[in-house]
Amino acid sequence: MKIATITFGCRLNKAESSAFEARAVAAGHELVHAPADADIIVVRGCSVTANAEKDCEKLIANMRKYHTGKQVFAIGCLPGKDANASAELGRLLAPAPASAKNFAIPLKSARAFLKVQDGCNSKCAYCIVPQVRGRSKSENFDKLLEQSRRIVDAGFTEIVLTGCNLVQYRSKKQSLADLVEAILAVGDGFRIRLGSIEPGVMDKDIIELFARNPRVCRHLHLSLQSASNDILKAMLRPCNLKKLNALCEGFRNAVPEGTLGADVICGFPGESEEDFMVTRRFLALWDFAQIHAFPYSERPGTLAAAMEGAIVKKTRQERARLLIRDAGLRRLRIMDSWVGKEVDVCVEKSANGTSEGWSGEYLHVKIEGEHPRRSLVHATISGVDKFTQTLLA
Ligand code: SF4
Repeated sequence: MKIATITFGCRLNKAESSAFEARAVAAGHELVHAPADADIIVVRGCSVTANAEKDCEKLIANMRKYHTGKQVFAIGCLPGKDANASAELGRLLAPAPASAKNFAIPLKSARAFLKVQDGCNSKCAYCIVPQVRGRSKSENFDKLLEQSRRIVDAGFTEIVLTGCNLVQYRSKKQSLADLVEAILAVGDGFRIRLGSIEPGVMDKDIIELFARNPRVCRHLHLSLQSASNDILKAMLRPCNLKKLNALCEGFRNAVPEGTLGADVICGFPGESEEDFMVTRRFLALWDFAQIHAFPYSERPGTLAAAMEGAIVKKTRQERARLLIRDAGLRRLRIMDSWVGKEVDVCVEKSANGTSEGWSGEYLHVKIEGEHPRRSLVHATISGVDKFTQTLLA
């Protein structure tokens, strides 16, 4: 059968789509790009914000309306997903060989997204993930090592570890830090990138990971949401400003040229102008270069949806806009500081005499010459294309 996949949202969803596609091909199905060419359409949705969820639901409704006669499956992080869709899809994929089920090698992506964990044991007031994906479940340690070996043998030079809440990874007594170091020991010539990290839980281990392992990409993306103590408390986050400052200071000391990124919710119920400014100053203090700032949106079924102190929507949007603008200006300044320095670029595409990809610091780089996709190329930065926010080498 012909299958088209559409993936919304984060790296975890990408990892799950990659694994699904590899299994589908191993089971003898064909992947197609356009839903119109497919017999089966699989939409892996995202509910990170109420708006993201609405977009997914709209697309799913359109797929069902305009592609009558085709099977449309809604899976992933959607509260309204088909209850039996995953099981039904699993049956359709049979008889995939056992090896393909266990160790699916990504087919489409230049970097290998490896899902190590799913679900979450926390109860952040705004978040629907624990209800949608359940409690934290970790992949078996040895199985992940075997899968990493296969990924490296297939020629990948960057493995991106993904999960709903990576710091909750546990396999017997092994933690996320143990897993990263064990995967690195699988071989040479590749690096590991950590997906989004929840601060406040295993900050010291994370800092030590960066300090000890130059093959861990020097980029820390925090699931921050706010830096204001009052708002963090209202959000039921396991963190406070003191811990956040200590984490960023530790990261800067461990890898001075590393870059920081964050997800931030703007206009959570009760967020005063001063609360917002605490977050804004914090992001400036530690030079956060990549910010995903979302205006808070009420999600039925979460604690926050019933909270008092709603912030007017315009203010939520304005705060998000300000943070994104700040980060853009900082990113350009940081990029300028890279001129004359060396980077390792994981190549995503090559054409017309140039190659493009990402440095370990998660900066977009364009290099001269057509290098093989997925290779790691060492280059010296010679300039910055400010329009596309790309380093040139
Ligand atoms: S830790 Fe992350 S995934 Fe878990 S409830 Fe909080 S925001 Fe959601």
